[in-house]
Amino acid sequence: MSAPSNAMSVGRLAGVEIRLDYSWFILLFLILGSLAGALFPAYAPEVSRLGHLAMGVAGTFLFFASLLLHELGHAVAARFRGMEVEGITLFIFGGMARTRSEPGGPGDEFIVAGMGPLVSFALAAGFYLVAGIGTRWDVGSAVTVTAETLGYLNLLLAVFNLLPGFPLDGGRLLRAAVWKVTGSLRRATAVAAGVGRLLGWAIIAIGIWSLLSAGAFIAGLWMVFIGWFLTQAARSAYQTVLLNQLMGPLTAGEAMSPRPETVGPDLTVDELIHDYLLRRPYNAFPVVEDDVVVGMVTLNGLQDVPRARWKELVAGQVMTPLEQLVLVEPETPMTQVLEKMRDNEIRRVLVARDWELLGIISTSDVARWLDRVALMDGAS
Ligand SMILES: [Zn+2]
Repeated sequence: MSAPSNAMSVGRLAGVEIRLDYSWFILLFLILGSLAGALFPAYAPEVSRLGHLAMGVAGTFLFFASLLLHELGHAVAARFRGMEVEGITLFIFGGMARTRSEPGGPGDEFIVAGMGPLVSFALAAGFYLVAGIGTRWDVGSAVTVTAETLGYLNLLLAVFNLLPGFPLDGGRLLRAAVWKVTGSLRRATAVAAGVGRLLGWAIIAIGIWSLLSAGAFIAGLWMVFIGWFLTQAARSAYQTVLLNQLMGPLTAGEAMSPRPETVGPDLTVDELIHDYLLRRPYNAFPVVEDDVVVGMVTLNGLQDVPRARWKELVAGQVMTPLEQLVLVEPETPMTQVLEKMRDNEIRRVLVARDWELLGIISTSDVARWLDRVALMDGAS
């Protein structure tokens, strides 16, 4: 699934980098608001208003700690099985443990996917135990209601994540099972992602129904968002797997469009636009001087140049300089190139050796590969 990119790093836990996406703060206030404002006043009416707020803060903190432990379960299991763990990101729909590589086999997938819900079940049991002991020792409803709520939330987290749609944990378990039976990661991902999309649409439908007929406005809207997120995540997860599988064995040199058309640094913007951008099917041209690549002019970059200055400014002045471009060697594996394109949110990577331009890899090249995958998919 595509990881949220507006995330800030907040530290490391057990050697795993923890990042918070900015959308996470919305979730923080939603949880705090519903715990302190609605749930705790209803279930612990004898506690004061300040008490409800304290319970809410503690409950919110423990909920996020639970979420983090769930993801840490995945991350530690992944590292235990020899996968490179990038880190954990918490965002508005919960958390996500990011790994650099796909699982090596269905066994790895099963263990990594199962560990999160297992941690949540264990936490649920722990919180219910605290609530039970608290009731027996009569420690007061502030503690028992908070503990019981967290037990319930962790149970909910485990059960929701076990729904069999990819990229939810249950979808990954399903994928592992199909992978084991068919021996094909691609087919397994197709099945699990298909269920994920169906599940997403089902959740959207239930959400709309709650919105319209049950009057549960916030809950309904929330479900529509989650369902939509799930359909998108299922689709992009499937594409990522296909792309990695198809392009994984390739190097940048094999996948690139070789010998792209280039321009010199002294070409005016006017010439660039009329002789190149309007006449060729490309939106970008590498700028080359004395056989060395020095930058790249792009259609986007030229949009800021006022028309009155088209004849005086030249490519060298309006290009994206080399420092802001991503250059790779022809031997670089395509998996790394795709990662760089994703991480830097760039549309083009230049393939060069010793600053000599050999080729270019653009998102449209990648899209062409994806088309081929789709064709092969239909044929198989
Ligand atoms: Zn999980």
